[in-house]
Amino acid sequence: MMVAKSTVKEEALQKIKVTKTTASRLSEVDFDNLVFGKKYADHMLVADFDGKEWKNAQILPFQNLSVSPSNAAWHYGQAIFEGIKAYKDPQGNPMIFRPYDNYKRFNISAERMGMPEVPEWLFIGGLDLLIDLDRNWIPTGDGCSLYLRPFMIAADEFIGVRPSDTYKFAIINSPSGPYFNKPIKLLVQDKYVRAFPGGVGYAKAAGNYGGAMYPTMQARKQGYDQILWVDGYEHKYLQECGTMNVFAIIGNTAVTPDLTQGTILEGVTRASVMDVLSDMGLTVEERPVSIDEIVTAYKKGSLREVFGTGTAASVAYVEQLDYKDEHLRLDTAKYEVGAEVIRRLDAIRTGRAADTRHWNYRVGE
Ligand SMILES: *Cc1c(COP(=O)(O)O)cnc(C)c1O
Repeated sequence: MMVAKSTVKEEALQKIKVTKTTASRLSEVDFDNLVFGKKYADHMLVADFDGKEWKNAQILPFQNLSVSPSNAAWHYGQAIFEGIKAYKDPQGNPMIFRPYDNYKRFNISAERMGMPEVPEWLFIGGLDLLIDLDRNWIPTGDGCSLYLRPFMIAADEFIGVRPSDTYKFAIINSPSGPYFNKPIKLLVQDKYVRAFPGGVGYAKAAGNYGGAMYPTMQARKQGYDQILWVDGYEHKYLQECGTMNVFAIIGNTAVTPDLTQGTILEGVTRASVMDVLSDMGLTVEERPVSIDEIVTAYKKGSLREVFGTGTAASVAYVEQLDYKDEHLRLDTAKYEVGAEVIRRLDAIRTGRAADTRHWNYRVGE
């Protein structure tokens, strides 16, 4: 926590104007059949950066934004975002999972993209007020949550290439259903690269996703779900799988690529999973992980599990991993480590297990 929660909330209450909806859409939502990213909660938050400071912060009914065709974000891609989840504890109190980590990362992304820093009252305080207001939109079914999407875009109406002077920050929220852990099939190939040292791989920037679409489409045509991205020099060191961080369980050790090259998004789930794995008694190693090491472990029979981690999917089991002539097949029905990680994470996030590391941010308190 950077500034006392009460101070941040006080500032948010002073600076954010709240206009409540008069026509809630809550009753239109079928909470037993939620489709990810289709329905949005009653309210959203918006604010404008005028070149000097953040202004016009308000929470208002969810609605379209009006943007000029010359909007700089559309042309040159100054656009960043975050993904966070909110849950309810058994008493029905809303909680946000580790929002300070997302807040820090958001400003790291902003810096890399030449965008202004967002203050804590706007990001954390704004989330608090917004989720407090839309608390009934947090689904409580098994594995369900309210997905929170803060984002920032350039706002200048100017098609010259330079950093925008003005920006828009917004938060929208979408109730999301249980994530069925359908095991995924991964392809390692050496043609396309997601991130290079010195690039923007460590930022949650919209363009990273745009650049991954075509290679992923090609992999899908071949029957894969995602690409297991490797480094661009040797096409050998693991980076991420799709839009998730990657872990391999080899014997009693969990390995995950280290972040020193700046080519990997520092996942909040990744950090949480590393802690949970240590709690479970595994040795956790953050270091360069080569595809050769994975293949060798597989052949020796010591590769137990491979999984991806991220806020959207939590933990996604890998059942197939193809690399050149190597075809790795893993029996995900036997994944004990991944399953226990999910159980423990879920229990903490929904307030059913002790939150010893203070990951849960309690809303409206
Ligand atoms: C968001 C994201 C992740 C996962 O980060 P979490 O904080 O765990 O959600 C991993 N890789 C990429 C490229 C991402 O954009």
